[in-house]
Order: sequence, then C-alpha cells, then structure tokens
Amino acid sequence: MKYFVILFAFLSITVSCTNQKSIDKLPDSEVLGLIYSEAEKSSESYENLRYLTTNYTKRLACYPQSIEAARWAKSVIDKMYLDQVFLQEALVMNWKRGSQETAYIQVNEKTIPVNVCALGRGIATPEKGIEAGVIEVNGLDELSLLPKSKVEGKIIFLNQAMNPNLENPFQAYGEAAGQRFMGPIMAAERGAVGTVIRSLTTAIDEFPHTGVTRKPDNELTVPAVCIATKHANLLSDMLKQNPDLKFNFKTDCKNLPDTTTYNTIGEITGTEFPNEYIVIGGHLDAWDNSPGAHDDGGGCMQAIEVLRIFKELGIKPKRSIRAVMYMDEEISQGGGRTYAEQAKQRGEIHLAAIESDRGVAQPLGFSIDASPEKIEEIASWGELFKPYNINVFIAGGGGVDIAPLKDQGTVLMGLLTDPEHYFDYHHSANDTFDKINRSEMQKGAATMAALVYLIDKYGLK
Ligand SMILES: [Zn+2]
Repeated sequence: MKYFVILFAFLSITVSCTNQKSIDKLPDSEVLGLIYSEAEKSSESYENLRYLTTNYTKRLACYPQSIEAARWAKSVIDKMYLDQVFLQEALVMNWKRGSQETAYIQVNEKTIPVNVCALGRGIATPEKGIEAGVIEVNGLDELSLLPKSKVEGKIIFLNQAMNPNLENPFQAYGEAAGQRFMGPIMAAERGAVGTVIRSLTTAIDEFPHTGVTRKPDNELTVPAVCIATKHANLLSDMLKQNPDLKFNFKTDCKNLPDTTTYNTIGEITGTEFPNEYIVIGGHLDAWDNSPGAHDDGGGCMQAIEVLRIFKELGIKPKRSIRAVMYMDEEISQGGGRTYAEQAKQRGEIHLAAIESDRGVAQPLGFSIDASPEKIEEIASWGELFKPYNINVFIAGGGGVDIAPLKDQGTVLMGLLTDPEHYFDYHHSANDTFDKINRSEMQKGAATMAALVYLIDKYGLK
C-alpha cells in the first residue's frame, strides 16, 4: 500500500513538472488553446452553480444563508488542494425583507392584485398597508417639476422604462436606475406617502426586479416597492381611464444594526513573486427573491474554474492567483471594501483584478479601468483571443466589488459578455439556473484564465 502511495506521489510530481516545463515552452497561442479546450470539456463549475442556486437561495449578505453559502463555497475549493483557502469576515448592512409584500389596484369596487417587491434598504408600511391615489411620472425629471400640493398624500408611481432602442442595455439600465435609487427620497421630500417604481428590466413580465434604493446615509421616510413591468403597464393604462383609482401595498422590511458574513478566498501561491496578486472574482450574495444564477453565482463559479484550469494544466504561476467570492455587492459592498482594506494592511501588491458580474453569456472581451498605456498593453494580446471571437478590449469599469482596489494602483477589469438578455433576469425570481448555457459559462472562465496567464507571464509595466 505504502509503495503505491509513494509511486502515485512520484508520478503526480513528474506529470506536474512535465506539464509546467512543456507549458513554459509552448507559444502563447497554444497555451490559450489548452486553456479553452480544458474549460470546454469540464462541467464541474456548471454543476456547482446548479448546486448553489438550488440549495443556497436567499443568500443576501445579511441573511444567515450567506454564511452557509460561503462555507459551502469554501468546501468546494478545499477539495482542489490549493495553497490557501480561507473565509474573510466582513461587516455588512443588515436589511431584512420580513413577510412577503402584497399590493393591489382598487377601482370601481374591484380589487386587482399586482406583483411588487420591497426595495433593498427600504422601510415597512404601517401594518394595514398604505392606500392612496396615484400620480404617475416618467422619471425623476418629471417628478422634480411636480408641485408639493399635487404630491402630498399620494403614491408616486415612477414608470420610466429602460430605453429598448439603446444598443447596450447596461446604458439603458444606468439611465433608468436613478428613479429606483433617488425616486423614493425625492417623492418623500414632496410629501408622498409611498413610491412604486417600474422594475428595471427589458422584459415585460410578472416578476418584480428589485434592487437597492437610497444612499446609506439618506434616511428614507416612505416605503418603496418595485412593480412587475406587466403590472406597471396595467396600472398606467388603468390610470388613464380612472385617474382616481387607489393603490394599496404592504411591506414589512427592517433596517437593523450591521452584521457579519464572509468573503470566500482560494489561492494558488506564486512561485517567484508570492506577494504580487492577480485576483478573479464575482459576488456570492444575491437578492433574496432570486436564485442569482447570472447575478452572480455564475461569476463566482467561473472564478473557481480559473483556478481549476491552472491546476489541471499544471500551470504554476509566478504570481499568486486568487479567486475571491465577495459578499454584499447588492446592498452595501462590505465584502469588496473589506478585501481591499485587508490587502492594503498586509502590504499585498494587487497587480490586476478581474470581475465577472455581467451575466453568464457569450464572452466578448474586457472593459479595463486603467491608464491608456496599460489598456494598450493589455489590448496588444488581443490577437491571441481572436480565434475565440473575443475581440473587445476597451476602457470602462471593472466591477463594484473590485472598485475599492483602485487606489492601490490595481488594474481593474470586467469580463464583458453579450448583454442582450441580462436584464430579463436581473434581480428577480427569473434568474434561475436553466438560463445558463454551460459552454458560454466555460468560455467566460477560459477567457479570464487566459488573461490571467498572460498577465502572470509578462507582468504589467
Ligand atoms: Zn451582480
């Protein structure tokens, strides 16, 4: 038995050394070929995503399920024999939904139920709910023009749709998101008693698509819900015929003292420059109304997959490679902040951070938050990615979780994916595992692994 163990260990070392040696000698194009084909043949991260989204729903950072999800993620990477695996404690805002929201339109003695969902950081209605007349506005500009006398005692219904004519839905989301973020505060300032926000999605569906409202230091005094787009259209149509109709909704959410949860981190330690880091990651938290397959369980499983590909191909990086599953992207970004603070305290040099948080779809390239010279340097590897139809290397944001690393000089990058359907699912119960394509997910992971390989090999000037 002992003999076999020793023989096995010897063979493993030999195979691994041979791999490393041969990989070092291969041209970059061939190494990328190995990375993409290794990703394509594996279903491990896809099956892990299935498990996460089935067993760890309601993993909003301030919910106990987020801790269970972090422990499960750690158990997954524990099995990969990495050099370091650890949980990192992070303090996060503590917002709890409470019981399921209800809402209905009351008109001509008819009660029509509609689907709503409280916004994160929102507050509760009185126990019997809020019932009032409704003023519809098409976004914040229209709201700002309304006199107080018209708004007082009313529910403000912000019904600005995401612009379907813009090529990039992220731009359309950005343009419409102000009404969710600032609408309730502005409505309260004008004497409204409640706010109903059209869900930010390109789909016309029955799912409320939630999200956060207000800045952490703004006190919110009126309850706020998002309404499914199909029901927003219904409410708008009914208001045209019955401007005096009443809307009733009930929320039970609470803002409590901060609480702790965990980032999950796995590391392959660098052979030559162990204190220089290249980080890939996503956020493990997801809205409590959503399994969070695209946002962002998929990004987390892709980060683990990058490490698996390195291990499987026997690539021993010169610099340390970390997969970080941040917690609390959705409400207060406590995980990302904590990671950056601790990196600084430990004197770790973070060369580059890549985040995958734009949905698991066909990868297109990277948006890069760095100096024009650095962007050019990274884009100069573009030819190597062309065989895989990855050809976008542009200036732009990296990601919410990695943004706090910016003041340490880290190059921040976001994996760009086909944005067409992301907002169909975003922040809703519709963001389920069956919307994930295994091959696209693996190609995204391979694209990040390939870039990590090149940054590790050549460094960044
Ligand atoms: Zn996200």
